[in-house]
Amino acid sequence: MPELAEVEYSRKQWNPGIGEIVREVRTHPKSRIYREIPAVAVEKGLTNRALVASYAHGKQMMFEFSGGAWLGLHLGMTGKLFVAELDRKEEKRDHLILRMKEQQLIFSDYRMFGKLTLELRDDGSPPPWWQELPPQTTGPDFTKKRHAAFVKRFPKTPLKTLLLDQRGYPGIGNWMADEICWRISIPPHTRSGELTDAQIDSVWKATRQISRDALKHVGDNWGVLPKSWLMTHRWKDGGICPRKHCKAELIRADLRGRTTCWCPSCQR
Ligand SMILES: [Zn+2]
Repeated sequence: MPELAEVEYSRKQWNPGIGEIVREVRTHPKSRIYREIPAVAVEKGLTNRALVASYAHGKQMMFEFSGGAWLGLHLGMTGKLFVAELDRKEEKRDHLILRMKEQQLIFSDYRMFGKLTLELRDDGSPPPWWQELPPQTTGPDFTKKRHAAFVKRFPKTPLKTLLLDQRGYPGIGNWMADEICWRISIPPHTRSGELTDAQIDSVWKATRQISRDALKHVGDNWGVLPKSWLMTHRWKDGGICPRKHCKAELIRADLRGRTTCWCPSCQR
């Protein structure tokens, strides 16, 4: 499931089309992608409009078109955005194609967990649900105070599980939540109510830092994360904790339905 940095990277993939008019919209009407809005409404709604801008917020993307049309996209598990030449052969997994003068913008999704919405707004403003999204973890409104209050609302929830709650931490997903717990040496299953005030602060700091670093490494050009991150060691059996002088074997286990990875030595 793409997390904030992958989503930030993805939304930029259509930017070559900014300022261009959509001449034709092609869809797969029966695709599950169109469970919120019929494909025909998307075809009608976007034809002859120009792409104005793209935005990312946590795991959500928004594309603004001229005349107050707002296309919301969620990548699901396997959604992908890209630009292609007009003569590219259409594939079965291409669920939305916006054909412009010299290129086409494509949303393809192999497993179809992605989601699409389109709203036409008379006053041109973004849809209310978009404006009401919780503060981004890299933004000024994600304050220490807001975070501490959120933690205190769910005292029985394991820290790792809490960090996956999009109402508090939009864009944080499985690997980032594990990275945060590991970075501050707190076991992922620690209940939020057991955290000290200092630990709550350190969760906030690590969340901000890891969000920023992930955006820098992945969000700009799908780069590689540093070897010093847990992320680069967590997937294989026998992965070793990358922290200097640790070298303990990492543990992977289910925590509330999500595979969770931690270091039994650093996170005691
Ligand atoms: Zn370790």
